[in-house]
Amino acid sequence: DKAKTDFSVKPHAMSHIKKVIGVVSGKGGVGKSMVTSLLAVTMSKKGYKCGILDADITGPSIPKAFGVKDKIMSNGEAMLPVYSEGGVPIISINLLLQNETDPVVWRGPVIANTVKQFWSDVIWGDLDYLFIDMPPGTGDVPLTVFQSLPVDAIVVVTSPQELVSMIVAKAVKMAELMKIPVAGLVENMSYFHCPDNGKDYQIFGESHIDEVAGRYGLPVLARIPIDPALAAACDEGRIEEFAGSCMDDAVMMLEDR
Ligand code: ADP
Repeated sequence: DKAKTDFSVKPHAMSHIKKVIGVVSGKGGVGKSMVTSLLAVTMSKKGYKCGILDADITGPSIPKAFGVKDKIMSNGEAMLPVYSEGGVPIISINLLLQNETDPVVWRGPVIANTVKQFWSDVIWGDLDYLFIDMPPGTGDVPLTVFQSLPVDAIVVVTSPQELVSMIVAKAVKMAELMKIPVAGLVENMSYFHCPDNGKDYQIFGESHIDEVAGRYGLPVLARIPIDPALAAACDEGRIEEFAGSCMDDAVMMLEDR
């Protein structure tokens, strides 16, 4: 049984983290980082202290969404996260690189070790929730991350373009292997609400999320529409100013866990 959590990776003595939520997806580009950011923003607005660990090493987009550019401070033993305008501590490889356009060409084990250090060497302080933007897929890197960090629950992000049943099946199997509960599913880019005629259009086709959620006995935490304002907020580093309520139900369900 190789898939046991390796609790040898201890958090820093100055980190007290109550809940760790991993956000996963089958592939890149479905909005996993956006969902991670919105969860943290919505929870923060409710008064919880939240942080984000960006473990999507090869496609880090959390710093951009929050508009943070400062470098992580390190004394060789410990690292301090960079705080967003709204006070959310963020750790991401992009905040370590000299140049944010530098590609990360490391191999799996090096990436996994970096993520472990983002847990063990970072002074996170007191947090109610730490959200982890996981590397996409169910490969080597996400597996090692799961084995290294004490993830309490995972949220699976899908979009209607995908073979949702297969992606959810894989995520659920991986979670079972790791003995981590799946908190629920988020469907991103579900529909477009036309402001001119008030109708909803299913741009990427019919949703199968209810059927798949039912099959696994999982809740649908949120259905997020395609929203140009959301895309702009992410791209311009203003995700904390986004006033939408699409994550309110999701946050309530996560609180109840
Ligand atoms: P992932 O983390 O899965 O690779 P991102 O969260 O980085 O994906 O999202 C990819 C791109 O799609 C980003 O530019 C983001 O702003 C945009 N995007 C994601 N979700 C939505 C949405 N619901 N409406 C509009 N744009 C979106």
